[in-house]
Amino acid sequence: MRILVIEDEPELARHITRALIRNGHSASAEYDGTAGLQAALAFPPDLLVLDLNLPGLNGLEVLGRLRDSKSAARVLILTARSEVEHRVKGLQAGADDYLTKPFSMDELVARVEALGRRGGTGVGEILEVADLRMDMIHRRVTRAARAIALSPREFDLLQLLMQEPGRVFSRTELCERVWQRSHEYDTRTVEIFIARLRKKVDADSLPPLIYTIRSVGYTVHPPE
Ligand code: CA
Repeated sequence: MRILVIEDEPELARHITRALIRNGHSASAEYDGTAGLQAALAFPPDLLVLDLNLPGLNGLEVLGRLRDSKSAARVLILTARSEVEHRVKGLQAGADDYLTKPFSMDELVARVEALGRRGGTGVGEILEVADLRMDMIHRRVTRAARAIALSPREFDLLQLLMQEPGRVFSRTELCERVWQRSHEYDTRTVEIFIARLRKKVDADSLPPLIYTIRSVGYTVHPPE
């Protein structure tokens, strides 16, 4: 994968790029938000490792402009342990996953590679639930023939739900299968992504297809 690292601590940025290169990726670094955004737009990476606390444009601004430009890059944000609110905002703004500082380089490489793997097994299929349609080859989603732009993680989450309409998935299972986080029980991330999906899939007063089953989890099925 081609990976861009935007991190203002030069030593940390160097450690990250070296670890990624050692694991067979192509990686380069930028040290402030403005230069990082320019680099990401000029030569779009497959994946962005983005510190949130940056000089110039901060990480949330970089993320916002990137998503506005319809960039499909996967984004892993880096946050300090004390910045829970930033992490939540980052996920709401379109990041796919996060890592809390300090972290080990092994953990970073594992997260990056999990993001690089495409979710799901049923490649070559079309999934349909009522007027919601997912083309898994081209990774396109439409509702009532209108195209819906999803981030890679939003796509993976919706794909899992659409593969078994009516089955209720617990937050823990979604967390494990979409984010491969088996140790870190983080249901807040799942809630944020479900909210993001609802905004896009169940928009424009269409009958809802995404349902919350109280204290159990989530399911997708045709309107009743
Ligand atoms: Ca920083």
